[in-house]
Amino acid sequence: MHDYHIISWGLGAMGRGMARLFLEKNQGRIVGAIDTDPDKIGRDLAEIIGWPEPLALTVTDAAETVLAQKPGGMILLATSSFTREVLPQIELALKYGWDVITIAEEMSAPQVQTPELAEAIDRLAREQGRVVLGTGINPGFVLDTLVVALTAPCLSIQKIRAERVNDLSPFGPTVMATQGVGTTVDEFERGLADGTIVGHVGFPQSLHLIATALGWELDRIEEEREPIVARERRQSPYVVVEPGRVAGCRHIARGYSQGRLVLELIHPQQVQPQAEGISTGDYITIEGTPTISMQIQPEIPGGLGTIAMAVNAIPLLAKLKPGLRTMLDLPVPRAWLQRRKK
Ligand code: NAD
Repeated sequence: MHDYHIISWGLGAMGRGMARLFLEKNQGRIVGAIDTDPDKIGRDLAEIIGWPEPLALTVTDAAETVLAQKPGGMILLATSSFTREVLPQIELALKYGWDVITIAEEMSAPQVQTPELAEAIDRLAREQGRVVLGTGINPGFVLDTLVVALTAPCLSIQKIRAERVNDLSPFGPTVMATQGVGTTVDEFERGLADGTIVGHVGFPQSLHLIATALGWELDRIEEEREPIVARERRQSPYVVVEPGRVAGCRHIARGYSQGRLVLELIHPQQVQPQAEGISTGDYITIEGTPTISMQIQPEIPGGLGTIAMAVNAIPLLAKLKPGLRTMLDLPVPRAWLQRRKK
């Protein structure tokens, strides 16, 4: 029996699920709930996450007050995708002595796009004797950790191709906005140009994780994005997409080593692909000796998968040295199966 002290920071679709799953394990307490949404502030966490018993914990935006309580716990951080946006939150958490598990996509390997920020986080985490880990379903698992694990029985590898055909429906407004879901094609193109629509966040990180694990130096990375236009009406808890509007983004990333294509990651992400007869799935092919081909159908569910990846990391964090860590530093990721006794 553990007595983990957890702060839930960011109570959107993912953060709420993470809080519920942690409570189901009955291995500690949620000691703080932080969100900036005026609709959530001042309400009991139990009400926000749909927990059957009162938790006597009010959601607040006063992060520093929550963090200033006795340290020694972990933050489940689910507020944003980008290192620059979560940086102040991570720095504050570390300053007050908390470990951080974040699902911010860029934080799965922040050294790729923002090496100076990664270094600052790493330095502060070491000074404070704390761990910062970026995880999630993707990046965090399907198109990187799982790919790396599949290379274990290979003698040699020429190329890796991995594709995730997924349903975006479980994700909240943050993901819908970054994918351009619900926009017109013109708005999508403008969003790509001005950076408000980015498609999948995390390709450079996944490429980096795989290349680092295999000792490949990537001399060039290229990314391609195009809108997936709905022919049928599509609907999720967070968005309605009328025919002719954008249902998602087909995003491809390629990594070259010594001028040769060695990594190809393909990710058509959309709301409700089933509405148009498209099946979801995860596919990995390692071309080498031996060639290994894996298919998972349907996809590993993105929402549940992300929630589980973050909560399953809680007992593994103790195995990591202080500092900024990645999924490559963890022992083999695994499920944490403790459940509340009914
Ligand atoms: P969401 O939009 O449903 O929720 C985000 C929540 O964070 C909201 O409640 C919002 O009010 C809160 N928030 C935003 N900024 C805040 C701040 N500065 N302080 C406190 N609270 C703040 O999004 P979601 O679907 O829950 O996803 C959360 C993030 O995780 C997104 O950026 C998403 O892209 C990312 N994500 C990553 C993975 C992965 O595989 N790595 C998977 C799913 C989601």
